Amino acid sequence: AKKDGRNRARTFTRSMLIVLEQREMLRRSLRTALQEGEFFVEYQPLVSPAFEVLGFEALLRWRHPLIGNIPPSVFIPMAEKDGLMSEIGKWLLEQACRAAMSWPSHFTVAVNLSPAEFLHEGLTDRVAQTLDLVGLRPDRLELEITESVLLERTINNLDTLNTLNVLGVQISLDDFGTFYSSLSYLKNFPFDTIKIDQYFIKDLEHDEKGQTIVRSIIALAHGLGMHVTAEGVETEGQAIWLEKEGCDRLQGYFLGFPIPAEAIGEFLRKSPT
Ligand code: C2E
Ligand code: CA
Ligand code: CA
Ligand code: CA
Repeated sequence: AKKDGRNRARTFTRSMLIVLEQREMLRRSLRTALQEGEFFVEYQPLVSPAFEVLGFEALLRWRHPLIGNIPPSVFIPMAEKDGLMSEIGKWLLEQACRAAMSWPSHFTVAVNLSPAEFLHEGLTDRVAQTLDLVGLRPDRLELEITESVLLERTINNLDTLNTLNVLGVQISLDDFGTFYSSLSYLKNFPFDTIKIDQYFIKDLEHDEKGQTIVRSIIALAHGLGMHVTAEGVETEGQAIWLEKEGCDRLQGYFLGFPIPAEAIGEFLRKSPT
């Protein structure tokens, strides 16, 4: 038994080492991925409860030349740690705004901001300059931030959000309900939309407590004059329930998968507008 344990320990260490080496390799490639043109953007539809398309959320993709697609949950935290995310985010913002220019003029484009991007000093200037450069109406851009972003430097955060609000862009609170969900954020920050995390949508049809929570978030948001988007809607039953409860926008595989910019024209031809 003793020997077994030792072997197991050794095997564990070796596989750990391989994982670490792979991570190192990945980090190295990440540093050159932007110049090498390895990033691309997919767009996932945001739809009304009547299934009309209202806009798209831009989602960053990295296709590594050898490994293939790497999930954003793996490489975005790496890029954050290595100080690369601000530059990547700048590229993505311009891509997304340019894509939106070719859509019907009432469609919005939602762009995620990681903590490093949001806390970057030049963020508000960058947003203003990009809108100017591309010629996109500010209210067609929606910036999504998570609560974790707001944990530090509260005074500056409020300044940043207020400046963005004055620019006329829309601001969404992403992944609502998963983190601290401090209600003071809702009271003090100028959000236009709350996005209910997919965790609450997953079991919605069979989970009465979940239904009560979602119903309450919708009421809370509407009471504060905000809109509500439900993420991760995967079934017709969920969509119908959310429609009945007055949810403003739906997003999820039932409504549409993330697709490349070139596929949007075809997607719109097949959906009601
Ligand atoms: P998120 O902002 O919450 O994005 C929603 C995620 O849920 C996306 O994963 C999307 O593909 C996935 N999703 C959409 N509908 C469904 C559904 O019906 N069921 C399920 N199970 N999943 C669904 P993705 O693209 O892997 O992105 C993961 C996270 O990475 C995002 O979560 C966001 O936090 C981050 N991310 C993605 N793109 C960007 C970006 O351009 N900038 C920044 N800063 N973060 C990004
Ligand atoms: Ca998001
Ligand atoms: Ca606003
Ligand atoms: Ca989310």
